Amino acid sequence: MDKIKHKLLVLSGKGGVGKSTVSSQLALYLSHIGYRVGLLDVDLCGPSIPKMLGLESKDVHKSTKGWVPVYTDESQKLGVISIQFLLGDKDTPVIWRGPKKNSMIKQFIDDVNWGEIDFLIIDTPPGTSDEHISVTEELLKHNPDGAILVTTPQAVSISDVKKEISFCNTMKLPIIGIVENMSGYVCPHCSECTNIFSSEGGKLLAEQCNIKFLGKLPIDPNLSICSERGINYFTEYPNSSTLAALKSFVDNF
Ligand code: ADP
Repeated sequence: MDKIKHKLLVLSGKGGVGKSTVSSQLALYLSHIGYRVGLLDVDLCGPSIPKMLGLESKDVHKSTKGWVPVYTDESQKLGVISIQFLLGDKDTPVIWRGPKKNSMIKQFIDDVNWGEIDFLIIDTPPGTSDEHISVTEELLKHNPDGAILVTTPQAVSISDVKKEISFCNTMKLPIIGIVENMSGYVCPHCSECTNIFSSEGGKLLAEQCNIKFLGKLPIDPNLSICSERGINYFTEYPNSSTLAALKSFVDNF
């Protein structure tokens, strides 16, 4: 863990705001521009990263140096670890109490052989539960860069992100910035942006709380289709507005 240059946690107050989408696309983008990246899915009860990256049927292997991540392709630029890879029957739900979840997370932090990577991105479940406390406590032992908070522009999501800000402050986890996801829909025909939800909520919250605003990610039907089918979005749509948005997040770190 200490060999990894950058360690980032992705948090959101609510489910369904696009936290796993941001985590997986950020990891894909960083690997796309040449970095070696690890993506750790600590959403134990609802892991969605393997499906989004087309790795659903894969199993993880253990070597003498620890668990070997599942790589998205032979370049081995992006390695993934998720509870999904450890389940014999992929449809079996994980029904665990806190201590068992905590011990799994500790193993994910201590026992994965990521190799020499530049970024480790950790996708978490929504909220501020046992998993968040465990992963944050374990990560704080290894000098993380901090948390990226994901919200949609609506007030209900914003109010939950305020709880995440307070969680980070309580745990003394630095906040890297806020990403506003599903921020407007850009018409593929006329390029006009329609704010389906209210607009600028994440930006205003960032200003109010004196947190960096990393940028907006628009609703992109092609991104959703790629995530559903486990297709690499960046090779499929190399000139998309999503790619431009992710570039701007990374430039803003
Ligand atoms: P969370 O991890 O917060 O629960 P997900 O990342 O699973 O949310 O996203 C929920 C759904 O919304 C998924 O079907 C995903 O493909 C879709 N989605 C998320 N962000 C976008 C976006 N910017 N454009 C299009 N679809 C998106």
